[in-house]
Amino acid sequence: MKRLCLLIFILFSVRALPAQQPVALVIHGGAGNMSREHMTPAQEEIYQTALEEALLTGYKVLKSGGTSLDAVEATIMVLENNPLFNAGKGAVLTNEGRAELDASIMDGKTGKAGAMAGVSAIKNPIQGARAVMEKSNHVLMAGKGAEKFARKEGLSMVHPSYFFTEGAYQNLERARKNNSYGVNSGRSDRSWETAFDKFGTVGCVALDQYGNLAAGTSTGGMNNKLYGRIGDSPIIGAGTYADNATCAVSCTGHGEFFIREVVAYDISALMKYRQLSVNDATREVVMNKLAEKGGSGGVIALDAKGNVAMTFNTTGMFRGYVKDDGKPVTGIFKDN
Ligand code: ASP
Repeated sequence: MKRLCLLIFILFSVRALPAQQPVALVIHGGAGNMSREHMTPAQEEIYQTALEEALLTGYKVLKSGGTSLDAVEATIMVLENNPLFNAGKGAVLTNEGRAELDASIMDGKTGKAGAMAGVSAIKNPIQGARAVMEKSNHVLMAGKGAEKFARKEGLSMVHPSYFFTEGAYQNLERARKNNSYGVNSGRSDRSWETAFDKFGTVGCVALDQYGNLAAGTSTGGMNNKLYGRIGDSPIIGAGTYADNATCAVSCTGHGEFFIREVVAYDISALMKYRQLSVNDATREVVMNKLAEKGGSGGVIALDAKGNVAMTFNTTGMFRGYVKDDGKPVTGIFKDN
């Protein structure tokens, strides 16, 4: 009798456990007009390895029972800490030679969001964004106030010089000389350094085993930007959006266009109101609407069934995804 009761108890407990859904995670490391002839196989390899490291970090979080928010935060931190990308260390510089960083995060389950803009002393701005979402009544905090809040929350703070790299400085010097600004600067030289100086914003979207979506984006913005300029990355609905009912989106590209076209929310709205698939919705916005306005860049998006979209109207986007099988897939150019 005792044994029977135990068996019935076990059967009921197992049935009561929520079914574990397959996980998925997608990242980007910036979009732009990059081509294979300006990148050696060794350089390509360096980027692929960095993308894989980030993907596997997020995958481990998801497989060990972490939430999509945990995975997005951990993945973006890896990319922020890598000077190859335009986020955290190695970010592009303002016209005055400072790193002013923007980041945002959104929870597709609750619709809550947090963001930081124009910060120069928080080691990982994505952590700052999450703290705003979870520890304040606000969505977006900027500059000195945001830094004060991050310090109070015990986040890792750094001297602004931590973000500075020689590469970012060289890029700024070139842009100052050419009087050019970020994407679409009209520059004709396309050497390795200059061709890549304006890409590298990072983003991540994830689906956890509980069926919840999350999205996050982190950037230094645009090379040689004016002091105080804020792009789309910390703007919920423009650079980042997540809704379990539709998708999670993170954008990269010429931020002013992404803000005006409300790109991330528009993708979600096309899915919600016109029942478009995640792939069709991203194509409609990035390849038609945005491109018609002259806006260059790309997006990553993921729906609650794990369908992945990585769409860009430039010649390349650093990108990758990993699904439940744990095999990372990465790409840089259009044909891979
Ligand atoms: N969207 C970013 C911004 O405008 C830049 C980028 O994605 O490369 O700040």
